[in-house]
Amino acid sequence: MEQKELRKKLLAEPKNGYDRLTKQDAEQMEAYCKDYMRFLDASKTERECVVSAIKLAEAKGFAAFDEQKHYHSGDKIYYNDREKGIILAVIGSESLASGAVIAGAHTDAPRLDLKPTPLYEDGEFAQFKTHYYGGIRKYQWLNVPLCLHGTIVRKDGTKLFLTIGDKPEDPQFIINDLLPHLGREQGKKPLNEAIIAENLNLLVGGRPLAEDDGKNRFKLEVLRLLNEQYGITEDDFISAELQAVPAMNAREIGVDRSFIAAYGQDDRVCAYAELAALLSLDTPRRTAVCIFSDKEEIGSEGVTGMQSACFDRFMGKLCKQQGVSLEDCYAHSFCLSADVTAAFDPNFAEVFDTHSCARCNHGIGLVKYTGAAGKSGASDASAEVVAMVRKAFDEKGVLWQIGEMGKADAGGGGTIAKFMARRNIDTIDAGVPVLGMHSPYETTAKLDGYMTYLGVRALFAL
Ligand code: MN
Ligand code: MN
Repeated sequence: MEQKELRKKLLAEPKNGYDRLTKQDAEQMEAYCKDYMRFLDASKTERECVVSAIKLAEAKGFAAFDEQKHYHSGDKIYYNDREKGIILAVIGSESLASGAVIAGAHTDAPRLDLKPTPLYEDGEFAQFKTHYYGGIRKYQWLNVPLCLHGTIVRKDGTKLFLTIGDKPEDPQFIINDLLPHLGREQGKKPLNEAIIAENLNLLVGGRPLAEDDGKNRFKLEVLRLLNEQYGITEDDFISAELQAVPAMNAREIGVDRSFIAAYGQDDRVCAYAELAALLSLDTPRRTAVCIFSDKEEIGSEGVTGMQSACFDRFMGKLCKQQGVSLEDCYAHSFCLSADVTAAFDPNFAEVFDTHSCARCNHGIGLVKYTGAAGKSGASDASAEVVAMVRKAFDEKGVLWQIGEMGKADAGGGGTIAKFMARRNIDTIDAGVPVLGMHSPYETTAKLDGYMTYLGVRALFAL
């Protein structure tokens, strides 16, 4: 055999996706990414992701799940989990005894939550105290324009949906850092200790209540304005979920526009991909399910997290209609835990094993195992499952790669994979490589987002 042929036959030489992308895919990718960026701008909290998903799904003929109704193949339904998570499904032509194909992503993202009694004043500033959510690098959230998104539930149960900072005429918020001139001591501290959590306070006002000589005039002025505009009082913050999230909208990055930067792409880049894949289905052979789960960033805990029985109840109801046990359905199901992974960054090459890392523009990144320090906490997909997935991708022309998060012992992380595997569902992690993950403005490559959409579609056809 010629040396050249031998090389081609034996070596797995990774190639940049643009050297393999078809012209048709390149065009469709651009259209897909425009829609994706629109989704991001409208969906800066998990609750807003649910609203966006319902809007898109209803336009494609999906209807809210009705427990009294009997569903047939081709029916399209969604289950709204407390307005913070959503499960969507297209009923397959085969019974749930042959299992479902599930794609699960999470739509919560690192952010700064307001504390239950957030408003105080200090040094003639009114400020909101925050408690950060998820794994943030605190210094990254200073001097970034922030907006406020969330829900306030009044004592009588009525709800107020609040967003301040998105419209061009809206005010925004900021946490100021120290000036370099006075930052000598701060600059000597390790990055992770220089900014302390209790100093992540949002500047919300600096004008005192007029013609008043009592205490708390700055705080009162802010409350006066909030009451005037939203009818709320200080007590209403107690039963509220208000999040300070980056105000910047999604933008194309680079002269060649091949990247997208935006807040919350972990994991909305995968959530949007699986939603778009589900919405493109007619009647799949096996029931296709798409999950937007909440609370992944804090361990998939809580009633809306993937550890909750909400998913089991929904699947159980569908199974019961078909006379199939939930256990049998799960045993024959497959789950793609669609979550982002770290993209190789030449500026931080030291934390990556360059033989086994995911690269931007190489397609959807399969991750056989996550975890930290000896795969601890990983689901670790079986070789059989990996083989099935790579075959499905290759058959449908999906550009993909395999990689792990970073060097062994450099750190690590987890996903919802282990909670799906715990249900006796074969599960594998795969998703888009991200630069600057968990920062207020994360970067992904368009090609990888689009390939994740094609990848999920290929798996829904299994
Ligand atoms: Mn994630
Ligand atoms: Mn994350």
